[in-house]
Amino acid sequence: MRATKAIIHLDNLKSNIKNIKSFTDPSHTKMCVAVKADAYGHGAVQCAKAVLEAGADFLAVATVDEGAELRQAGIKAPVLMLSLCCPEEVPQAVKNDITPLVFDTDYAELFSKEAVAQGKDNYAVHLAVDTGMGRIGVLPEDAGKAAEAILSYKNLSLGGMCTHFAVSDCTDEESRRYTKLQFSRFEEAVGNVKKSGIDPGIRHCCNSAATLDLRECHLDMVRPGIIAYGYYPGDMNSDYFTQKGTPVELKPVMTLESKVCAVRPFTSGKSVGYGRTWTSDSETDIGVLTLGYADGMLRKFSSAGICVAVDGKVYPVRGRICMDQCMIDLGLNSGVKRWDRAVIFGDRRDGALQTADDIARLTGTISYEITSCITKRVPRVYTE
Ligand SMILES: *Cc1c(COP(=O)(O)O)cnc(C)c1O
Repeated sequence: MRATKAIIHLDNLKSNIKNIKSFTDPSHTKMCVAVKADAYGHGAVQCAKAVLEAGADFLAVATVDEGAELRQAGIKAPVLMLSLCCPEEVPQAVKNDITPLVFDTDYAELFSKEAVAQGKDNYAVHLAVDTGMGRIGVLPEDAGKAAEAILSYKNLSLGGMCTHFAVSDCTDEESRRYTKLQFSRFEEAVGNVKKSGIDPGIRHCCNSAATLDLRECHLDMVRPGIIAYGYYPGDMNSDYFTQKGTPVELKPVMTLESKVCAVRPFTSGKSVGYGRTWTSDSETDIGVLTLGYADGMLRKFSSAGICVAVDGKVYPVRGRICMDQCMIDLGLNSGVKRWDRAVIFGDRRDGALQTADDIARLTGTISYEITSCITKRVPRVYTE
């Protein structure tokens, strides 16, 4: 196996699920774990199996292909599809019993026709409500009519209703008010469906932030994603929940590691890499890692002051990150040897001295993007 790999700690994943579960009342709140985007880069099938073992009830994907991958692996749990698919994907979606989020009659009709064609009765769809995310969903005032329309189509049933929060991970007052408004608009939408004499099914609206922070909004199901993989959403961190009196321990599931594949002595004045953006101002040793932007060590990390840990010490990345390689400055007499393990981010157990969140902060993004941009070329190694 190549030097660069992502270690996936399924024990951490399960421990995170257990800790998240302690925030919900399992007697009436189910858990749907987002495994979209290959489980945020961690590997959908393995992670799906682990979270189901740890007590998740539903899985959430973004695309039909992602749902089909879970079915091919023998996973039977209900699978929600959070994004829209094209008409030509609907047969595959129905064949794999993927539950779409529906909010208009054209889209509902596609699923109805296909459910009839495949002889599937009571095909469950969830009604999406746009309470302020501005992405998909009916407006709350139209929810009753939309639910009636769904049920007027042959072979469809209303399995649930959902909405999605835009700023539940922001702790400022204005955002809090906006989330409360979104929740009350969702309740209004549910009320409108009930007024039409229709059972709204499973009501769900909480992403990671709301699952931990707004327990009064859990309703019948929560939909955590990033916290399952060990990262706090948005403004939130461990201190935030401790101060609130509801501490929660989340452990990073992924460790990204490589090896120092060469140690090169540099004289003063020798430059590193494309564009010659860094030149040594004294003698030093440069370590070469076989990890580049095509692995997810993004080129924009080059100038962000990212460091890599080798044997308990950190060394800065120098010059531009290449497609397949990058270089770190070991200084003189570091003691670092060829083939030593170099850890980019992850679990301290593996020698990581920073997390995907630390890299995200340095590079102006979020942990979600750091882990989900680790590409297919990087083997995932699963450990329990
Ligand atoms: C991705 C997604 C989630 C999970 O979001 P996190 O912030 O990772 O918890 C929940 N609901 C919907 C609709 C999503 O698209």
